[in-house]
Amino acid sequence: MRVAQVPGPGEEFQIVEHEIPKPGAGKVRIKVQACGVCHSDALTKEGAWPGIQYPRVPGHEVAGVIDEVGDGVAAWKPGQRVGVGWHGGQDGTCRECRRGDFRNCRNLKIPGISYDGGYQEYMLAPMEALAAIPDTLSDVEAAPLLCAGITTYNALRHSGAFPGDLVAVQGIGGLGHLGVQFASKFGYRVVAIGHGLENAQLAKRLGANEYIDSKLTNAAEALQKMGGARVVIATAPSSKAMSELIEGLGPNGKLIVIGATFDPIEVTPLQLISGSRTIQGWAAGTPADSEDTLRFAELSGVRPMIETYPLEKAAEAYARMMSGKAQFRVVLTM
Ligand SMILES: [Zn+2]
Ligand SMILES: [Zn+2]
Repeated sequence: MRVAQVPGPGEEFQIVEHEIPKPGAGKVRIKVQACGVCHSDALTKEGAWPGIQYPRVPGHEVAGVIDEVGDGVAAWKPGQRVGVGWHGGQDGTCRECRRGDFRNCRNLKIPGISYDGGYQEYMLAPMEALAAIPDTLSDVEAAPLLCAGITTYNALRHSGAFPGDLVAVQGIGGLGHLGVQFASKFGYRVVAIGHGLENAQLAKRLGANEYIDSKLTNAAEALQKMGGARVVIATAPSSKAMSELIEGLGPNGKLIVIGATFDPIEVTPLQLISGSRTIQGWAAGTPADSEDTLRFAELSGVRPMIETYPLEKAAEAYARMMSGKAQFRVVLTM
């Protein structure tokens, strides 16, 4: 089988041939059909996550078909369509797992980081990492929903915002273009925050009620004129832009951070105290949350906009994703 692997931290992708692996106990082998290229794959490519063993195959937006099951796998069968997202398995024994909070497992396994991910023709996955894919979603549509999709969907549905509330989506990119769609289908009054006329038209098409061009307008002031946001979901990886939007939150407003950066967000205690505002981070969700995301997408018509590349062009696909110019998710096909 063909595999796109990272030989070492910061090194270029290699396309190599490997033996097709056998699934051990509690695992399945997936014939990968599509794998999304996520910004978090940079953690593997650049070695920014501690303890990665190289060579390593990135990819945590995997869609495929179960091809063989290992011992002790009763709930899944060959021929079933499945996906694997960021949540690649929990230990089942830590304090959070014992409370049923698998999403926050202290020893969470992540495909492409803890074990080889989806940039290859066949992949092994633990059974607790699997999500069923509905028949009406294609592999290339399902793949980005397993990280970008679940993250925006799950963060919004747990945000505390009710239908009709003012919800702003900062950034119209890989995460944001899905965030606008989900927010619209949830019945929020959706404000998309981006720049440029092109994005304005796109945001409206995706379901935004309002558009703020943050290059031309002070976005926080514009949000306050609309009554203040109940939720701002910050998708674009800019800590500065996030910091500026805190002033756009209304009473009990919440800034939800899903765009990953290393720079600090700046906020004063007074900004949080007045109006009881909060800032919260959110990471993906469990495979059960993935299934909810996929079913909701099926029901509501939410779909990722994608650019596809064959597996052999993994390096090009990764570079395209990193350029920030992709419209909007890059997906490898096998
Ligand atoms: Zn991701
Ligand atoms: Zn755990």
